[in-house]
Amino acid sequence: MDTLTTFSSTAPVTRPRRVERLVAGQATSDGAGVKLTRVLSQPLQRRLDPYLMLDAFGSDQPGDYIAGFPDHPHRGFETITYMLAGRMRHRDSAGNEGLLGDGGVQWMTAGRGLIHSELPEQTEGVMEGFQLWLNLHSSDKLQAPAYRDIPSDQIPEFTAPGLRVRVIAGASHGVAGAVQRPRTEPLLLDIHLDAGVRVAQPLPAAHNAFVYVYRGALQLGETTVEQQRMAVLAQDPAADGVLLQAGDTPTRALLIAGAPLAEPIAQHGPFVMNTRDELLTAVDDFRSGRLG
Ligand code: MN
Repeated sequence: MDTLTTFSSTAPVTRPRRVERLVAGQATSDGAGVKLTRVLSQPLQRRLDPYLMLDAFGSDQPGDYIAGFPDHPHRGFETITYMLAGRMRHRDSAGNEGLLGDGGVQWMTAGRGLIHSELPEQTEGVMEGFQLWLNLHSSDKLQAPAYRDIPSDQIPEFTAPGLRVRVIAGASHGVAGAVQRPRTEPLLLDIHLDAGVRVAQPLPAAHNAFVYVYRGALQLGETTVEQQRMAVLAQDPAADGVLLQAGDTPTRALLIAGAPLAEPIAQHGPFVMNTRDELLTAVDDFRSGRLG
């Protein structure tokens, strides 16, 4: 090993995964005209199973975000909203309401379905964050909807000189995250590294995994992952994790992994089921008022 400090988790990583491909997100808009970058889009759903979508948003121009996401339905999966900066209010048809603030997470299990709104609660300043969609196993898709707001100060962290790992889901460096889930076993880490610092994270070989760099740049083996790029990590039965090293500036990235469900994916907008018939039922339930 070289002289760099590597912060290892409970187990060292001896054979890190390499980068299979780099993905630049697509600029788009959703909701009532919120500008965002779709990093994980439909063509990658099978490859990154159990994840269905990753959107990144970030702007200091109120016109890019102010209209938010008025009432809309979901069924069949979970949405995870991670706010870096800004405030967003959530209301749903089950009577839940919450305010998401700087550094906070909302973990919503749509299950059999609900109707909700996600609306900015600010008229100026920076609004920045992510929304990640995590699929549910076929036997869990029609469970009762649930949601949890996790304020920033309740997100467990591992810190060491030059390193901060916010453990939103799963575990890292012996720190259990705010959320644990069976079946999909999500790992969701927000990793902050000073320039040149390295971190190792074990990953089960069967899990799909990807990294999204939102500040600075990361080195993963031979590959440099620039800001606003997603690196899909290669599947390798012999690999035991990933090794991330910040470039010459402070760097921040999401590391996301999970156990694939290996089930058919049928999506129609905000409904994600296993078959076309189940989608038709979802649309029918929504139209006839049975979703909320
Ligand atoms: Mn939504």
